[in-house]
Amino acid sequence: MQNPEISYEVPRSYGHWIGGKEVHSITCIERVNPETGRVVAQFAEGAARDAENAIENAKAAFESGEWSRKPGAERAKILGKWAALVEQAAERLIAIEIEEAGKIYRVAKGDVEGTVELISYAAAMAQNIAGQAFMDVGDGLNAFVVKEPIGVVGAIVPWNFPTIIFAQKVPLALAAGCSVVVKPSEFTSGTALELARLAQAAGIPDGVLNVVTGYGDPVGRAISESPDIELVSFTGSTRTGREILKGQHVNFKRVSLELGGKSAAVVFADADLDAAADGVLFSIFMHQGQVCCAGSRLLVEEAIADAFVEKLAARARKLNLGNLRDRETDIGPLISPAHLTLVHGHVEGARQEGATVVCGGEVVGQAAFPGAPAQTYLPTILDGVTSGMSIFRDEVFGPVLTVTRFDTVEDAIRLANQSDYGLAGSVWTRDIQTAFQVAQRVRTGTIEINTSLEGKPQLPFGGYKASGLGREKGQAGLDEFMEVKTIGIRVSPKEAFFPRSR
Ligand code: NDP
Repeated sequence: MQNPEISYEVPRSYGHWIGGKEVHSITCIERVNPETGRVVAQFAEGAARDAENAIENAKAAFESGEWSRKPGAERAKILGKWAALVEQAAERLIAIEIEEAGKIYRVAKGDVEGTVELISYAAAMAQNIAGQAFMDVGDGLNAFVVKEPIGVVGAIVPWNFPTIIFAQKVPLALAAGCSVVVKPSEFTSGTALELARLAQAAGIPDGVLNVVTGYGDPVGRAISESPDIELVSFTGSTRTGREILKGQHVNFKRVSLELGGKSAAVVFADADLDAAADGVLFSIFMHQGQVCCAGSRLLVEEAIADAFVEKLAARARKLNLGNLRDRETDIGPLISPAHLTLVHGHVEGARQEGATVVCGGEVVGQAAFPGAPAQTYLPTILDGVTSGMSIFRDEVFGPVLTVTRFDTVEDAIRLANQSDYGLAGSVWTRDIQTAFQVAQRVRTGTIEINTSLEGKPQLPFGGYKASGLGREKGQAGLDEFMEVKTIGIRVSPKEAFFPRSR
């Protein structure tokens, strides 16, 4: 069924959003819809100077105190209004997400709804910023431990979830009282620019939220290296995360990194196998596997492995490839031809190392629209993958599930932990002891029991090991954007340490 509510304005044209105004650059970056091959948007191609201009605006806004020192209840009211405006603009934002990121309608809709929830949550948190009071910590000394906004935040956002990753960073930064400069991916900058305009309409003062579009180098680099940025909140590849981290050692800047993953879905023989199959398929094929917390490694108990893999493959073959605006479509194109080549390269490499292709493993022959690139990769399952193969370790970031078998709980935990990454994972069993044993011993920031990819605003998200540093969402996510200050108060006189100096 075609979704009638979406109206397309093609192509949209945007400047940067700096100091509450649109600012243009001499050159533009064109975004081609990965589904149709048509240009759908033009973004200003920023230079380092544009990033510096945005940082100056953000710093001036922070220092003015108009937002950073506004009472939390007032910030909450404005953030609440922002959430309502985003909800009203939902269909437009969904359309942009479909066109720029190649999302299917259901995923784009979920992202925009999740964005409204995240902003509403940040509004509630803005009026609940609390510290600690210590009465009489010793000999007439009282103390308060208070939290203060950290200052100007640089938020660097990737192409896979441009709206919701923006919303995992920016609303809590604003709730804390920070000013923000956002650098979206050059593929998918539209929703960040729309959200910034809606923030202004809600009453967030000019200069508090800025968006600079362009390439990672120079715009992302200028933001992450600026001495006036107090925290870089980055989501993207482990390679770029590492580069940003190296720079920050020199600047004493705080860094929060949400990087890649190679998460395991551990399925035991006693699980509800229909529910497990649904959960495993969702966690690897949602948004074509271009998801940092995708469950890309299936670890399955030997006793049921053949039957379970056949069940998965039968369902994977039935996934609908089609027009992204149809609500029944399950799988869309990959973000770019270059990314498609990378994904296929991983599958070819695995074949050469001895993995068996159960289904998929190829590009869909015909493009969805005349003249469009054939950019859809079939949902792929690779069986016979051992822990020594590259595909077991490397993040593919595409619709590719590997299958590895295990015999015991210990085996399953060892294999799950055999990864440089530690972002997420799931365990499927009816045995509560097995479930908890696995959940406690798998070294990842999130693990789910009998479900997958259920992120909520209250639940912190982030990784162990090479999956990153810090957390987004929840109280931990808010704390990333705050400094802790201790204020000591003497309430009764203290004996002088140097009495003879009196
Ligand atoms: P990158 O890490 O290159 O990009 C993420 C963001 O950082 C983009 O906005 C990018 O801008 C920006 N950036 C790039 N270089 C710098 C720099 N030196 N300083 C500051 N910012 C910079 O990821 P890609 O988009 O190129 O994707 C590559 C791979 O990364 C994927 O195949 C996937 O494996 C992984 N990835 C992981 C994500 C996650 O959610 N953890 C999300 C997206 C990708 P620009 O777009 O202009 O390069």
